[in-house]
Amino acid sequence: MNRRSECDLSRRRVLAAGLGAAGLMAFGVGRMAAAAGAAEPRSTPAEPGLFINHCHTSVKGFGAQRDRPEMGTIGALQELLSEHPGARAICFAPFGFEGGPWAKIGGGLDRNEWLARELRQYPQLRGFATVYPQDHDAAGQLKRAIAGGLVGAKVHPPVMRFRLDDPAGEPFWRAAEELQIPISIHTGTHGWNLRYYMPLLLDEIAQAHPKLPLIIEHLGGAAFFDQALAVLHNNKNCYAGLTQCSGRDPKYTLEPARRERLLETVGPERIIYGLDYPWHKDNPQALKDDIAWIGSWGLATEDQQKILGGNLARLIGR
Ligand SMILES: [Zn+2]
Repeated sequence: MNRRSECDLSRRRVLAAGLGAAGLMAFGVGRMAAAAGAAEPRSTPAEPGLFINHCHTSVKGFGAQRDRPEMGTIGALQELLSEHPGARAICFAPFGFEGGPWAKIGGGLDRNEWLARELRQYPQLRGFATVYPQDHDAAGQLKRAIAGGLVGAKVHPPVMRFRLDDPAGEPFWRAAEELQIPISIHTGTHGWNLRYYMPLLLDEIAQAHPKLPLIIEHLGGAAFFDQALAVLHNNKNCYAGLTQCSGRDPKYTLEPARRERLLETVGPERIIYGLDYPWHKDNPQALKDDIAWIGSWGLATEDQQKILGGNLARLIGR
């Protein structure tokens, strides 16, 4: 981002803080952002247009909320959303084990087919396919899922045991670029050899497929934030997946100084909020806390709305 747009961002935030144009004139570019932070501005949470990415779903409940075993189902997600009128969300098809082995609970359906079929009953929900990019027919699976009504895909390298630099994934990435759909990719330590899925490897994919929108979920986690940021700086087709970052899990917490850096150098146009349903002890509360967290940054309402749904809606073209 150039100096002028950095200044524009700071200007919006200073104005949101109520300092006005006169206050703006008194500061240099770096100090404008500092002043906006110091004033701890509060603006109303921007609920209109709420469109939540990153909700894992399956036939049966699963996740981290012990007192609500139905969490993880599409029905429970819909109920959670009903507290936020007009809110929409993206459901991820299961990896194959959530709520039980897919062979047992899937009713003989392909998991992406199941999701597409279920979502016909839920006009506020859209679906991302779950495809293992190393599968020999991964590109075909993706094309069928999109033809069936899904609007993107989710890839989780450590869960799928898929190396981001595996040439076997190339047909998948090419198909996604041709289809012009976004791919959400898990980043952050998750118990497999880190060299196979460190965020830096996404640079190669982003450069090879400049029209493919990649959502870097969890921003690398606390341990790999710098790599995620480097890829975001280097590739305009990469988006910051703001998922699990608000402070409930220290492994994924986005510290205030890093948040400032992200806002100033990537900007609200390339940040996409995700909930990571149902991986919270209290999922409805997690959503409310996340919205309040983003509302506490002092951004102009229009910028909050981009992060909380506008950018995602733009990427999937609806
Ligand atoms: Zn997730």
